[in-house]
Amino acid sequence: MTKNNIIIIGCGAGGGTAAQFARKTDRKASITIFEQTSFPQYSKCGLPYTISGDIPEIMDLIEFSKEWFEKARIDLHLNTTVDHIDSEKNILYVSNENNTKQEYEFETIILATGASPFIPPIKNIQKNGVFPNGVFSLRTINDAQNISKQVKKGKHALVIGAGFIGLEIAECLHKMGMNVTIIEAMQTILPQLLDSDLSNQIQKHLEQYITIKLHHFVKDIQVTNNQVTHVYVEHAETHEKLTLPADLIILATGTRPNIRLAKELKCTIGSSGGIVVNNKSETSQKNVYAVGDCTEFIDFITKKPVPIGLGSIAVRQAIAAGVNAAGGQYELQNGVLQTCTSEFFGLEIASVGPSISQLEELKPIVGKHTGSSRPEYFPGGKSITCKTYIDSSTGSILGARAIGTNAAQRINTYATALLANMNIETFRTLRTAYAPPIAPTLDTVTIAADIAATKWQRKRSG
Ligand SMILES: Cc1cc2nc3c(=O)[nH]c(=O)nc-3n(C[C@H](O)[C@H](O)[C@H](O)COP(=O)(O)OP(=O)(O)OC[C@H]3O[C@@H](n4cnc5c(N)ncnc54)[C@H](O)[C@@H]3O)c2cc1C
Repeated sequence: MTKNNIIIIGCGAGGGTAAQFARKTDRKASITIFEQTSFPQYSKCGLPYTISGDIPEIMDLIEFSKEWFEKARIDLHLNTTVDHIDSEKNILYVSNENNTKQEYEFETIILATGASPFIPPIKNIQKNGVFPNGVFSLRTINDAQNISKQVKKGKHALVIGAGFIGLEIAECLHKMGMNVTIIEAMQTILPQLLDSDLSNQIQKHLEQYITIKLHHFVKDIQVTNNQVTHVYVEHAETHEKLTLPADLIILATGTRPNIRLAKELKCTIGSSGGIVVNNKSETSQKNVYAVGDCTEFIDFITKKPVPIGLGSIAVRQAIAAGVNAAGGQYELQNGVLQTCTSEFFGLEIASVGPSISQLEELKPIVGKHTGSSRPEYFPGGKSITCKTYIDSSTGSILGARAIGTNAAQRINTYATALLANMNIETFRTLRTAYAPPIAPTLDTVTIAADIAATKWQRKRSG
């Protein structure tokens, strides 16, 4: 039996980063990672773009190779699954691809087991736990490779789910010449992120390229000779039925945290289904840390638990876990600031703050402005829309959304203000840079903030 200081389960963004920061903190610690797949730490975020060919070589997604871990004296076991943990004896039971079983004693554990795709209850979607040909979720390098093999110009692709990942995949499949339809159960696209006016704006843009069916459920899949051919779809209210051709189906219906081992360790599981962690990435159990998509953490604004589903957050939690597990001191802010971005068919979208339903519960004052990336007189300006949400009694910023040129950078400005607990009165006076070919004197960020601040002042003065 091998004795280890730190054992990490999972070598995704969370596990790999935790190992690196544990090593930086303690040059001598014994650090071991178990990873059930054959790949060391790679970017899942890049997977859709390997399907479109934007990233020509899928193995370029690997950010830290096996050799890199070896050099850092981190003992990485690929193709090795942690099957079971005995929390009384502090023993971990693993098996590798040859079904060789081994036991490891541990002092400190970092759970970085990620999440698994959620499979919606659709008739014929699986037989004995296996998808028919043509049905996929997208979570791993193998998934992306298998999808790529089925992509055929002129054929029909159906993406279930209009969240960030669904829309990214839809664009990539369209780029490869497929006829793409998105089916979304809710009434708008990006339903967790945007309110209906921003969703509608993006939807109009997307419908130039793909078909979108909102408020529809996929009920059944037609499979012939183990190959999907059609889907049966129903309207959520009218129950009107549709049959759509589908040579390829991608499930982009969210994930569920992998918490089996956390339960064996008796870690507290929270209301959203993830492992409860604090701002040091500690779980409820001593010497057990958890990071990334297997966890939940409180939202920076609402202080309510939110499931973690972003690589950017997993990495920050992992820095805390790695440093603390190795005896250092590292604390995250008190809660997770949900900052995210993507781009669909050339339209950039970014968001900071709670989900739209959580924001709306706070009954915020909203300032919205659509402007241009350049002064009106300078040709070539591009449209940019910003929406600022502020607390109606205190005027503190709760969140923001941006659509258009440099949306992510604009949202990063809001993120800075949020972390600094900045009031809208200060934020509206932001001194943004101005030069005609680059930016107008008053940026859309500032104007949207000014509109919110004015509404707030009017409310205060009755
Ligand atoms: C298509 C796609 C696009 C995305 N785009 C973005 C984006 O643009 N921006 C963003 O911030 N986030 C994005 N994400 C989310 C981001 O990839 C995840 O938040 C991030 O990968 C989470 O890291 P993690 O380490 O928690 O989990 P994972 O990366 O899932 O790693 C968990 C690892 O644990 C291993 N494991 C699990 N159980 C065991 C076990 N018992 N034994 C051994 N190994 C085990 C798994 O094999 C896996 O490798 C995207 C995700 C996907 C799928």
